[in-house]
Amino acid sequence: MSFSHLGLSDKVLAAVAATGYTTPTPIQEQAIPHVLARRDVLGIAQTGTGKTAAFVLPMLTLLEKGRARARMPRTLILEPTRELAAQVKESFDKYGAGQKLNVALLIGGVSFGDQDSKLTRGVDVLIATPGRLLDHTERGGLLLTGVELLVIDEADRMLDMGFIPDIERICKLVPFTRQTLFFTATMPPEIARITETFLHNPQKIEVSRPATTATGVAQFQVSVGREPHDKRETLRRLLRDAKDLKNAIIFCNRKREVALLHKSLQKHGFAVGALHGDMDQSARTAALDQFRKGDIPLLVASDVAARGLDIPTTSHVFNFDVPHHADDYVHRIGRTGRAGRAGTAISIVTPLDHKSMAAIEKLIGQSIPPVEGHIAARAAASDDTDQPRREHRSRQGSREGSREGSREGSRGGRKPRREREPRHAKGGHHAKDSDHNGSASQAPAAMPPSIGRAEPQRPHRETEGEPADHSHLPAFLLRPVRARV
Ligand code: AMP
Repeated sequence: MSFSHLGLSDKVLAAVAATGYTTPTPIQEQAIPHVLARRDVLGIAQTGTGKTAAFVLPMLTLLEKGRARARMPRTLILEPTRELAAQVKESFDKYGAGQKLNVALLIGGVSFGDQDSKLTRGVDVLIATPGRLLDHTERGGLLLTGVELLVIDEADRMLDMGFIPDIERICKLVPFTRQTLFFTATMPPEIARITETFLHNPQKIEVSRPATTATGVAQFQVSVGREPHDKRETLRRLLRDAKDLKNAIIFCNRKREVALLHKSLQKHGFAVGALHGDMDQSARTAALDQFRKGDIPLLVASDVAARGLDIPTTSHVFNFDVPHHADDYVHRIGRTGRAGRAGTAISIVTPLDHKSMAAIEKLIGQSIPPVEGHIAARAAASDDTDQPRREHRSRQGSREGSREGSREGSRGGRKPRREREPRHAKGGHHAKDSDHNGSASQAPAAMPPSIGRAEPQRPHRETEGEPADHSHLPAFLLRPVRARV
């Protein structure tokens, strides 16, 4: 099957050819003809399946006819996060380069006035996060009565973030006769309920079993002790020793932990950025851009980065914290191994995480091979040569352990309806919060980041009884274990 059989316009086909894509992905092949036939679509598909183009390409074809009127967008795409919204806009810029369409982004954290003046010029495609969209409609600057096509993307993420009441309100502002395209990675009961309300006789398309992990991703778990210090030390070891590590996203469960770990890694000389929901928008965009361009190889992130972000070359994902919800694991590790590439996902597991790991393994239907924690710990202890210094574990560790942070996307308890007011990423914590005493003599600024450093090739060990391929494991995990005396 080629793109030319799907009914797309010549302009759109030319844009697809220019990107180099020759074959539609299964979601594209199945969804595009129905979108062009003006049917509602219920797409059960994860990110990484090509689902963005599955709605962007036919939308571009449909939008070739007709013109936008001031303050009355012709189509509306709802996204749960600003980053996803920006990413969908990039898709329109890429595939719609040959068309003179007005595409506007309504997301929190950026100037209201600029967005408003864009709306007055008439918008063909409006891409929005729910809170900011409703702010505009409530101020009277936006009318949704001209919307012919509505896309609700990442609906299960919307549910997690407490956006469903907003979505219900928005749907009442959009004409009943609109066409609706609804995408979700999973189908919890509440999502199933709202599909019955929002969609009219939809074409259901399911391209992969919900909550499966990409097959190209090698998954491992590393057991560590309870102390935050143990986790950080193990992470640094993993980062230094991992083979083929080009870049990595390191996930934490809490925004505060993201900020702390970011600072800690920086102090240890790693080139690292941070991304979480309390950062202001320009800082979020800058961090993501730097990571995409390869200017920074490491990104410490909350689950705001877990879904949908398309960074095709991410080689590794680390779970600094094991996620409390098993499906978050699937989304996180979906940041690597995208579009058929190989990837590695390593979870750092404390004794408190065993229940969560069991739930993850049950969900993904496979066990994640453990690497004994004492191997990691002792290997670290026995090899100080590339350790910048010993860390101070006692007081700092217990202080961090008792610290509370807010969860990025609450599930049982709801997140506030609107996006939070922007705050400055670094405003919330003090230097003493990191895992260092901050003395000048121990400042690690001189230490070069080890990411990107050529690793000496370790001989491949093919000894009897040993699993044949350990190539995804960091070298230190393969070193002989010293007997405890
Ligand atoms: P998505 O699921 O929309 O996040 O897309 C995942 C990745 O697949 C993106 O990098 C797309 O650019 C890429 N992609 C989308 N459609 C195709 C295609 N037909 N062939 C190859 N790659 C594609």
